[in-house]
Amino acid sequence: MKNFQSISEIRDEIAVGKLTVHQLVQHYLNQIEEKNGRLNAFLSVYGDSALQRALLIDKKIRSGKARRLAGMIIGIKDVFALEGHRLQCASKILEGFESQYSGTCVQRLLDEDAIIIGHQNCDEFAMGSSNENSAFGLARNPVDETKVPGGSSGGSAVAVASDMCQVSLGSDTGGSVRQPASFCGVIGLKPTYSRISRHGLAAYASSFDTVGVISKSIEDAALVLEIMSGPDDFDSTVSNNPVPNYHKFQSTKKYKIGYLSEAISHESLAIEIKESTSKILEQLAALGHHVEETHFSKLDYILPTYYVLTAAEASSNLSRYDGVRYGRRTPSNDLEVMYKESRSDGFGDEVKRRIMTGTFVLSASYYDAYYSKAQKVRKIIKDETEKLFEEYDFLISPTTPTTAFKIGELNKDPLRMYLEDLYTVQANVTGIPAISLPIGIDKDGLPMGVQVMSKSFNELELLDVSNQIITFKDQNR
Ligand code: GLN
Repeated sequence: MKNFQSISEIRDEIAVGKLTVHQLVQHYLNQIEEKNGRLNAFLSVYGDSALQRALLIDKKIRSGKARRLAGMIIGIKDVFALEGHRLQCASKILEGFESQYSGTCVQRLLDEDAIIIGHQNCDEFAMGSSNENSAFGLARNPVDETKVPGGSSGGSAVAVASDMCQVSLGSDTGGSVRQPASFCGVIGLKPTYSRISRHGLAAYASSFDTVGVISKSIEDAALVLEIMSGPDDFDSTVSNNPVPNYHKFQSTKKYKIGYLSEAISHESLAIEIKESTSKILEQLAALGHHVEETHFSKLDYILPTYYVLTAAEASSNLSRYDGVRYGRRTPSNDLEVMYKESRSDGFGDEVKRRIMTGTFVLSASYYDAYYSKAQKVRKIIKDETEKLFEEYDFLISPTTPTTAFKIGELNKDPLRMYLEDLYTVQANVTGIPAISLPIGIDKDGLPMGVQVMSKSFNELELLDVSNQIITFKDQNR
Protein backbone atom coordinates (compact mmCIF):
# COMPACT_ATOMS: atom_id res chain seq x y z
CA MET A 1 0.00 0.00 0.00
CA LYS A 2 1.20 3.51 -0.72
CA ASN A 3 2.65 5.79 1.93
CA PHE A 4 -0.18 8.34 2.33
CA GLN A 5 0.98 11.92 2.80
CA SER A 6 -2.33 13.43 3.90
CA ILE A 7 -5.91 12.71 4.92
CA SER A 8 -7.18 13.97 1.56
CA GLU A 9 -5.13 11.33 -0.28
CA ILE A 10 -6.76 8.74 1.96
CA ARG A 11 -10.24 10.19 1.48
CA ASP A 12 -9.80 10.21 -2.31
CA GLU A 13 -8.98 6.51 -2.40
CA ILE A 14 -11.83 5.68 -0.05
CA ALA A 15 -14.24 7.71 -2.20
CA VAL A 16 -13.44 5.75 -5.37
CA GLY A 17 -13.65 2.43 -3.54
CA LYS A 18 -9.93 1.67 -3.74
CA LEU A 19 -9.46 1.66 0.03
CA THR A 20 -11.36 0.93 3.22
CA VAL A 21 -10.48 2.19 6.69
CA HIS A 22 -10.19 -1.45 7.74
CA GLN A 23 -7.52 -2.07 5.07
CA LEU A 24 -5.75 1.10 6.12
CA VAL A 25 -5.58 0.04 9.77
CA GLN A 26 -4.35 -3.38 8.65
CA HIS A 27 -1.65 -1.66 6.61
CA TYR A 28 -0.37 0.32 9.60
CA LEU A 29 -0.53 -2.78 11.81
CA ASN A 30 1.60 -4.63 9.24
CA GLN A 31 4.10 -1.76 9.24
CA ILE A 32 4.23 -1.84 13.03
CA GLU A 33 4.67 -5.62 13.00
CA GLU A 34 7.54 -5.31 10.54
CA LYS A 35 9.39 -2.32 12.00
CA ASN A 36 8.55 -1.84 15.66
CA GLY A 37 10.83 -4.60 16.92
CA ARG A 38 13.81 -2.57 15.70
CA LEU A 39 12.58 1.01 16.08
CA ASN A 40 10.65 0.67 19.39
CA ALA A 41 8.27 3.50 18.52
CA PHE A 42 5.12 1.94 19.99
CA LEU A 43 4.85 0.72 23.58
CA SER A 44 1.33 -0.67 23.12
CA VAL A 45 -0.65 -1.38 19.98
CA TYR A 46 -4.44 -1.57 20.08
CA GLY A 47 -4.82 -3.73 16.97
CA ASP A 48 -8.10 -5.52 17.69
CA SER A 49 -10.01 -2.47 18.86
CA ALA A 50 -8.61 -0.38 15.97
CA LEU A 51 -9.76 -2.97 13.43
CA GLN A 52 -13.20 -3.22 15.03
CA ARG A 53 -13.61 0.53 15.05
CA ALA A 54 -12.46 0.66 11.42
CA LEU A 55 -15.40 -1.58 10.42
CA LEU A 56 -17.77 0.80 12.17
CA ILE A 57 -16.27 3.83 10.47
CA ASP A 58 -16.39 2.15 7.06
CA LYS A 59 -20.10 1.66 7.70
CA LYS A 60 -20.52 5.32 8.60
CA ILE A 61 -18.69 6.32 5.41
CA ARG A 62 -21.03 4.15 3.32
CA SER A 63 -24.07 5.73 4.92
CA GLY A 64 -22.71 9.27 4.51
CA LYS A 65 -22.48 9.81 8.26
CA ALA A 66 -18.70 9.85 8.67
CA ARG A 67 -17.08 12.75 10.43
CA ARG A 68 -14.01 14.81 9.58
CA LEU A 69 -11.29 12.44 10.73
CA ALA A 70 -12.73 9.24 9.26
CA GLY A 71 -9.66 7.48 7.84
CA MET A 72 -7.12 9.14 10.10
CA ILE A 73 -5.04 6.66 12.08
CA ILE A 74 -3.32 8.30 15.02
CA GLY A 75 -0.69 7.23 17.55
CA ILE A 76 -0.43 9.00 20.90
CA LYS A 77 2.61 9.68 23.07
CA ASP A 78 2.64 7.80 26.38
CA VAL A 79 1.60 10.95 28.26
CA PHE A 80 -2.01 11.09 26.99
CA ALA A 81 -4.88 9.44 28.80
CA LEU A 82 -7.08 7.05 26.82
CA GLU A 83 -9.93 5.58 28.83
CA GLY A 84 -9.43 1.98 29.86
CA HIS A 85 -5.86 1.84 28.57
CA ARG A 86 -2.48 1.81 30.26
CA LEU A 87 -0.66 5.12 30.73
CA GLN A 88 2.90 5.12 31.99
CA CYS A 89 4.73 8.25 30.77
CA ALA A 90 7.51 5.77 29.87
CA SER A 91 8.21 5.45 33.61
CA LYS A 92 8.40 2.51 35.98
CA ILE A 93 6.61 4.55 38.62
CA LEU A 94 3.31 4.27 36.74
CA GLU A 95 3.54 0.50 36.33
CA GLY A 96 0.05 -0.97 36.19
CA PHE A 97 -1.72 2.40 35.95
CA GLU A 98 -4.81 2.60 33.76
CA SER A 99 -6.64 5.80 32.73
CA GLN A 100 -10.23 6.18 33.84
CA TYR A 101 -10.99 8.82 31.22
CA SER A 102 -9.68 10.10 27.89
CA GLY A 103 -7.89 13.43 27.62
CA THR A 104 -9.91 16.20 25.97
CA CYS A 105 -7.65 16.36 22.91
CA VAL A 106 -7.86 12.59 22.43
CA GLN A 107 -11.62 12.55 22.96
CA ARG A 108 -12.16 15.30 20.38
CA LEU A 109 -10.23 13.27 17.81
CA LEU A 110 -12.27 10.16 18.60
CA ASP A 111 -15.49 12.17 18.32
CA GLU A 112 -14.47 13.03 14.76
CA ASP A 113 -13.93 9.34 13.89
CA ALA A 114 -10.17 9.16 14.22
CA ILE A 115 -8.73 5.79 15.24
CA ILE A 116 -6.12 5.57 18.01
CA ILE A 117 -3.74 2.76 17.12
CA GLY A 118 -1.45 2.78 20.17
CA HIS A 119 0.66 4.52 22.78
CA GLN A 120 4.13 5.65 21.75
CA ASN A 121 7.55 5.62 23.37
CA CYS A 122 9.06 8.83 24.77
CA ASP A 123 11.48 10.13 27.36
CA GLU A 124 10.26 9.49 30.91
CA PHE A 125 7.69 12.16 31.82
CA ALA A 126 8.67 13.94 28.58
CA MET A 127 12.05 14.95 30.00
CA GLY A 128 14.77 14.56 27.42
CA SER A 129 15.89 15.26 23.87
CA SER A 130 16.79 11.78 22.61
CA ASN A 131 14.19 9.26 23.82
CA GLU A 132 17.02 7.54 25.71
CA ASN A 133 15.37 8.31 29.07
CA SER A 134 12.55 5.81 28.55
CA ALA A 135 11.99 2.97 31.03
CA PHE A 136 11.10 0.88 27.95
CA GLY A 137 14.39 1.35 26.13
CA LEU A 138 15.43 3.77 23.41
CA ALA A 139 13.70 4.32 20.10
CA ARG A 140 15.75 4.42 16.90
CA ASN A 141 15.81 6.96 14.10
CA PRO A 142 14.35 5.24 11.01
CA VAL A 143 16.66 7.21 8.71
CA ASP A 144 19.76 5.83 10.47
CA GLU A 145 19.19 3.31 13.22
CA THR A 146 22.48 4.14 14.96
CA LYS A 147 21.09 7.63 15.66
CA VAL A 148 18.57 8.89 18.20
CA PRO A 149 15.15 10.01 16.90
CA GLY A 150 15.16 13.07 19.18
CA GLY A 151 12.86 13.56 22.12
CA SER A 152 10.96 13.62 24.14
CA SER A 153 8.24 12.63 21.61
CA GLY A 154 10.75 10.32 19.86
CA GLY A 155 8.46 7.35 19.27
CA SER A 156 5.77 9.67 17.91
CA ALA A 157 8.11 11.12 15.27
CA VAL A 158 9.53 7.70 14.38
CA ALA A 159 6.03 6.30 13.88
CA VAL A 160 5.02 9.01 11.39
CA ALA A 161 8.37 9.02 9.58
CA SER A 162 8.32 5.24 9.13
CA ASP A 163 4.64 5.05 8.15
CA MET A 164 3.40 3.20 11.23
CA CYS A 165 0.56 5.73 11.57
CA GLN A 166 -0.64 8.83 9.75
CA VAL A 167 -0.36 11.39 12.55
CA SER A 168 0.99 11.40 16.11
CA LEU A 169 0.05 13.44 19.15
CA GLY A 170 3.04 14.66 21.11
CA SER A 171 3.59 17.12 23.92
CA ASP A 172 5.90 20.10 23.65
CA THR A 173 7.23 21.73 26.81
CA GLY A 174 10.54 22.91 25.37
CA GLY A 175 10.72 21.44 21.88
CA SER A 176 9.63 17.84 22.31
CA VAL A 177 7.44 17.85 19.21
CA ARG A 178 9.62 20.02 16.97
CA GLN A 179 13.04 18.54 17.72
CA PRO A 180 12.17 14.87 17.03
CA ALA A 181 10.16 15.94 13.98
CA SER A 182 13.27 17.70 12.70
CA PHE A 183 15.52 14.68 13.42
CA CYS A 184 13.16 12.31 11.61
CA GLY A 185 12.24 14.52 8.62
CA VAL A 186 8.57 15.23 9.40
CA ILE A 187 6.45 18.22 10.51
CA GLY A 188 6.09 19.15 14.20
CA LEU A 189 3.59 21.80 15.29
CA LYS A 190 3.50 23.39 18.74
CA PRO A 191 0.46 25.68 19.02
CA THR A 192 0.09 28.70 21.28
CA TYR A 193 0.08 27.85 25.00
CA SER A 194 -3.57 27.50 26.12
CA ARG A 195 -4.90 26.84 22.59
CA ILE A 196 -5.55 23.18 23.44
CA SER A 197 -6.77 21.73 26.73
CA ARG A 198 -4.18 19.94 28.86
CA HIS A 199 -6.83 17.81 30.56
CA GLY A 200 -5.61 14.22 30.24
CA LEU A 201 -2.01 15.19 29.44
CA ALA A 202 0.33 14.12 32.26
CA ALA A 203 1.84 17.29 33.67
CA TYR A 204 5.55 18.03 33.36
CA ALA A 205 5.80 21.86 33.63
CA SER A 206 2.28 23.21 33.60
CA SER A 207 3.02 26.77 32.47
CA PHE A 208 4.94 25.41 29.44
CA ASP A 209 3.16 22.17 28.46
CA THR A 210 1.45 22.20 25.07
CA VAL A 211 -0.25 19.47 23.06
CA GLY A 212 1.40 19.20 19.63
CA VAL A 213 0.96 17.42 16.30
CA ILE A 214 3.45 15.42 14.23
CA SER A 215 2.45 14.83 10.62
CA LYS A 216 3.63 14.55 7.03
CA SER A 217 1.47 17.38 5.67
CA ILE A 218 0.43 20.85 6.79
CA GLU A 219 -3.11 19.87 5.88
CA ASP A 220 -3.20 17.12 8.52
CA ALA A 221 -1.57 19.30 11.18
CA ALA A 222 -4.11 22.07 10.51
CA LEU A 223 -7.14 19.82 10.66
CA VAL A 224 -6.07 18.04 13.83
CA LEU A 225 -5.21 21.38 15.47
CA GLU A 226 -8.61 22.80 14.56
CA ILE A 227 -10.44 19.85 16.05
CA MET A 228 -8.49 19.80 19.32
CA SER A 229 -8.48 23.57 19.98
CA GLY A 230 -10.86 25.63 22.07
CA PRO A 231 -12.37 25.94 25.54
CA ASP A 232 -12.82 22.96 27.81
CA ASP A 233 -14.66 22.70 31.12
CA PHE A 234 -11.86 20.51 32.48
CA ASP A 235 -9.07 23.05 31.94
CA SER A 236 -9.77 26.64 32.91
CA THR A 237 -6.49 27.86 31.42
CA VAL A 238 -7.68 27.20 27.84
CA SER A 239 -8.16 30.35 25.82
CA ASN A 240 -11.60 31.55 24.74
CA ASN A 241 -10.15 33.04 21.55
CA PRO A 242 -12.29 31.83 18.66
CA VAL A 243 -10.89 28.83 16.79
CA PRO A 244 -10.40 29.75 13.11
CA ASN A 245 -10.88 27.28 10.29
CA TYR A 246 -7.25 26.29 10.38
CA HIS A 247 -7.72 23.93 7.46
CA LYS A 248 -8.34 26.96 5.23
CA PHE A 249 -4.80 28.18 5.70
CA GLN A 250 -3.82 29.12 2.17
CA SER A 251 -3.60 32.80 1.29
CA THR A 252 -1.74 35.05 -1.14
CA LYS A 253 -0.47 37.38 1.53
CA LYS A 254 3.14 38.54 1.50
CA TYR A 255 4.73 38.47 4.92
CA LYS A 256 7.45 40.27 6.78
CA ILE A 257 9.92 37.68 8.01
CA GLY A 258 12.85 38.17 10.37
CA TYR A 259 15.75 35.88 11.17
CA LEU A 260 17.75 36.23 14.35
CA SER A 261 21.43 36.89 13.71
CA GLU A 262 22.30 35.48 17.15
CA ALA A 263 20.66 32.18 16.20
CA ILE A 264 22.23 31.90 12.74
CA SER A 265 25.71 32.78 13.98
CA HIS A 266 25.59 30.65 17.15
CA GLU A 267 28.79 28.67 17.68
CA SER A 268 26.98 25.38 18.21
CA LEU A 269 25.13 25.50 14.87
CA ALA A 270 26.21 22.91 12.29
CA ILE A 271 27.38 24.53 9.07
CA GLU A 272 25.07 22.57 6.75
CA ILE A 273 22.00 23.54 8.78
CA LYS A 274 23.11 27.15 8.67
CA GLU A 275 23.48 27.00 4.88
CA SER A 276 20.12 25.31 4.39
CA THR A 277 18.37 27.86 6.62
CA SER A 278 19.91 30.69 4.57
CA LYS A 279 18.70 29.02 1.40
CA ILE A 280 15.13 28.90 2.75
CA LEU A 281 15.32 32.61 3.53
CA GLU A 282 16.45 33.32 -0.05
CA GLN A 283 13.62 31.23 -1.43
CA LEU A 284 11.06 33.08 0.69
CA ALA A 285 12.43 36.40 -0.55
CA ALA A 286 12.22 35.12 -4.13
CA LEU A 287 8.50 34.44 -3.55
CA GLY A 288 8.05 38.12 -2.71
CA HIS A 289 8.14 38.00 1.08
CA HIS A 290 10.13 40.67 2.85
CA VAL A 291 13.02 38.95 4.63
CA GLU A 292 15.56 40.68 6.85
CA GLU A 293 18.00 40.14 9.67
CA THR A 294 16.99 41.09 13.18
CA HIS A 295 18.34 40.64 16.71
CA PHE A 296 17.47 38.96 19.94
CA SER A 297 20.08 39.79 22.53
CA LYS A 298 18.74 37.38 25.18
CA LEU A 299 19.17 34.12 23.27
CA ASP A 300 21.71 32.71 25.73
CA TYR A 301 19.43 33.41 28.70
CA ILE A 302 16.50 31.39 27.42
CA LEU A 303 17.83 27.89 28.14
CA PRO A 304 18.86 28.57 31.75
CA THR A 305 15.51 30.27 32.40
CA TYR A 306 13.71 27.31 30.90
CA TYR A 307 15.62 24.70 32.90
CA VAL A 308 15.20 26.52 36.24
CA LEU A 309 11.46 27.04 35.82
CA THR A 310 10.56 23.68 34.29
CA ALA A 311 12.54 21.81 36.97
CA ALA A 312 10.69 23.79 39.66
CA GLU A 313 7.29 23.02 38.15
CA ALA A 314 8.25 19.38 37.57
CA SER A 315 9.34 18.88 41.18
CA SER A 316 5.94 20.06 42.30
CA ASN A 317 3.93 18.16 39.66
CA LEU A 318 5.72 14.88 40.22
CA SER A 319 5.24 14.96 44.00
CA ARG A 320 1.93 13.16 43.39
CA TYR A 321 3.78 9.94 42.49
CA ASP A 322 4.30 8.73 46.04
CA GLY A 323 3.55 5.03 45.84
CA VAL A 324 0.08 5.58 47.31
CA ARG A 325 -2.05 7.16 44.64
CA TYR A 326 -0.74 5.85 41.33
CA GLY A 327 1.04 2.82 39.92
CA ARG A 328 4.02 1.28 41.58
CA ARG A 329 4.70 0.85 45.30
CA THR A 330 7.80 -0.54 47.00
CA PRO A 331 6.24 -2.08 50.11
CA SER A 332 7.46 -1.24 53.61
CA ASN A 333 5.90 -1.10 57.05
CA ASP A 334 7.29 2.37 57.52
CA LEU A 335 5.33 5.04 55.61
CA GLU A 336 8.29 7.32 54.99
CA VAL A 337 10.50 4.46 53.82
CA MET A 338 7.69 3.40 51.46
CA TYR A 339 7.50 6.91 49.93
CA LYS A 340 11.24 7.15 49.53
CA GLU A 341 11.79 3.71 48.10
CA SER A 342 8.83 3.89 45.74
CA ARG A 343 10.20 7.12 44.29
CA SER A 344 13.83 5.98 44.28
CA ASP A 345 12.97 2.73 42.48
CA GLY A 346 10.28 4.22 40.26
CA PHE A 347 11.93 7.29 38.73
CA GLY A 348 14.87 7.24 36.32
CA ASP A 349 18.05 9.34 36.64
CA GLU A 350 17.00 12.33 34.51
CA VAL A 351 13.66 12.69 36.27
CA LYS A 352 15.41 12.54 39.65
CA ARG A 353 17.90 15.17 38.46
CA ARG A 354 15.03 17.52 37.56
CA ILE A 355 13.16 16.89 40.82
CA MET A 356 16.28 17.63 42.84
CA THR A 357 17.13 20.74 40.80
CA GLY A 358 13.56 21.94 41.09
CA THR A 359 13.39 21.34 44.82
CA PHE A 360 16.68 23.20 45.20
CA VAL A 361 15.63 26.30 43.25
CA LEU A 362 12.36 26.41 45.19
CA SER A 363 13.98 25.99 48.61
CA ALA A 364 13.68 28.95 51.00
CA SER A 365 17.33 29.95 50.85
CA TYR A 366 17.68 29.86 47.07
CA TYR A 367 14.19 30.82 45.93
CA ASP A 368 15.06 34.46 45.21
CA ALA A 369 18.40 33.71 43.63
CA TYR A 370 17.01 31.20 41.13
CA TYR A 371 13.25 30.80 40.91
CA SER A 372 12.23 34.45 41.32
CA LYS A 373 15.04 35.60 39.10
CA ALA A 374 14.13 33.14 36.36
CA GLN A 375 10.52 34.37 36.52
CA LYS A 376 11.74 37.92 35.97
CA VAL A 377 13.97 36.89 33.08
CA ARG A 378 11.03 35.00 31.58
CA LYS A 379 9.06 38.24 31.54
CA ILE A 380 11.93 40.12 29.88
CA ILE A 381 12.29 37.41 27.21
CA LYS A 382 8.54 37.49 26.61
CA ASP A 383 8.42 41.27 26.29
CA GLU A 384 11.37 41.36 23.93
CA THR A 385 9.93 38.56 21.80
CA GLU A 386 6.55 40.29 21.60
CA LYS A 387 8.26 43.47 20.49
CA LEU A 388 9.79 41.60 17.58
CA PHE A 389 6.33 40.49 16.51
CA GLU A 390 5.16 44.09 16.36
CA GLU A 391 7.52 44.28 13.42
CA TYR A 392 7.58 40.78 11.95
CA ASP A 393 4.93 38.20 11.09
CA PHE A 394 7.40 35.36 11.58
CA LEU A 395 10.82 34.63 13.00
CA ILE A 396 12.83 31.91 11.34
CA SER A 397 15.70 29.89 12.81
CA PRO A 398 17.01 26.35 12.57
CA THR A 399 14.98 23.92 14.71
CA THR A 400 18.09 22.36 16.23
CA PRO A 401 21.81 23.16 16.20
CA THR A 402 22.71 19.65 14.96
CA THR A 403 21.13 16.77 13.08
CA ALA A 404 20.33 13.50 14.89
CA PHE A 405 23.28 12.44 17.04
CA LYS A 406 24.59 8.96 17.81
CA ILE A 407 22.82 6.82 20.39
CA GLY A 408 24.80 7.16 23.64
CA GLU A 409 26.71 10.25 22.50
CA LEU A 410 25.12 12.82 24.80
CA ASN A 411 23.23 10.95 27.49
CA LYS A 412 26.10 11.09 29.97
CA ASP A 413 26.41 14.85 29.49
CA PRO A 414 23.15 16.55 30.50
CA LEU A 415 24.33 20.07 29.68
CA ARG A 416 25.19 19.20 26.09
CA MET A 417 21.87 17.41 25.81
CA TYR A 418 20.05 20.54 27.07
CA LEU A 419 21.81 22.59 24.39
CA GLU A 420 19.81 20.66 21.76
CA ASP A 421 16.83 22.80 22.86
CA LEU A 422 18.63 26.07 22.15
CA TYR A 423 16.21 27.27 19.47
CA THR A 424 13.01 25.55 20.53
CA VAL A 425 12.57 26.74 24.13
CA GLN A 426 11.86 30.39 23.25
CA ALA A 427 8.38 29.47 22.02
CA ASN A 428 7.58 27.71 25.31
CA VAL A 429 9.09 30.35 27.58
CA THR A 430 6.93 32.95 25.80
CA GLY A 431 3.91 30.79 24.91
CA ILE A 432 3.95 31.53 21.16
CA PRO A 433 3.25 28.97 18.41
CA ALA A 434 6.09 27.42 16.43
CA ILE A 435 6.55 24.72 13.81
CA SER A 436 9.42 22.61 12.55
CA LEU A 437 9.47 21.85 8.83
CA PRO A 438 11.69 19.36 7.02
CA ILE A 439 14.04 21.16 4.61
CA GLY A 440 16.17 18.36 3.23
CA ILE A 441 19.08 16.18 4.27
CA ASP A 442 22.74 16.78 5.09
CA LYS A 443 25.70 15.01 3.50
CA ASP A 444 25.16 11.99 5.78
CA GLY A 445 21.57 11.72 4.66
CA LEU A 446 20.17 13.00 7.97
CA PRO A 447 17.08 15.24 7.96
CA MET A 448 17.38 18.95 8.80
CA GLY A 449 14.56 21.21 9.96
CA VAL A 450 13.75 24.88 9.99
CA GLN A 451 11.63 26.49 12.70
CA VAL A 452 9.08 29.23 12.15
CA MET A 453 7.72 31.12 15.16
CA SER A 454 4.80 33.51 15.16
CA LYS A 455 2.89 35.69 17.59
CA SER A 456 0.31 34.07 19.86
CA PHE A 457 -2.86 32.77 18.16
CA ASN A 458 -1.49 33.36 14.66
CA GLU A 459 -1.50 29.67 13.73
CA LEU A 460 -3.52 30.29 10.58
CA GLU A 461 -0.80 32.40 8.97
CA LEU A 462 1.89 30.18 10.44
CA LEU A 463 0.35 27.23 8.59
CA ASP A 464 0.12 29.29 5.41
CA VAL A 465 3.79 30.23 5.32
CA SER A 466 4.74 26.68 6.38
CA ASN A 467 2.88 25.30 3.42
CA GLN A 468 5.03 27.45 1.16
CA ILE A 469 8.30 26.50 2.88
CA ILE A 470 7.53 22.80 2.73
CA THR A 471 7.54 22.90 -1.08
CA PHE A 472 11.18 24.08 -1.07
CA LYS A 473 12.24 20.68 0.19
CA ASP A 474 11.69 19.09 -3.22
CA GLN A 475 13.41 21.96 -5.02
CA ASN A 476 16.45 21.59 -2.73
CA ARG A 477 17.07 17.90 -3.31
N1 GLN B 1 14.21 18.53 25.94
C1 GLN B 1 13.41 19.38 26.75
C2 GLN B 1 13.41 18.90 28.17
O1 GLN B 1 13.97 17.88 28.44
C3 GLN B 1 12.03 19.48 26.17
C4 GLN B 1 11.11 18.47 26.67
C5 GLN B 1 9.69 18.65 26.21
O2 GLN B 1 9.38 19.51 25.39
N2 GLN B 1 8.81 17.85 26.77
O3 GLN B 1 12.88 19.55 29.03
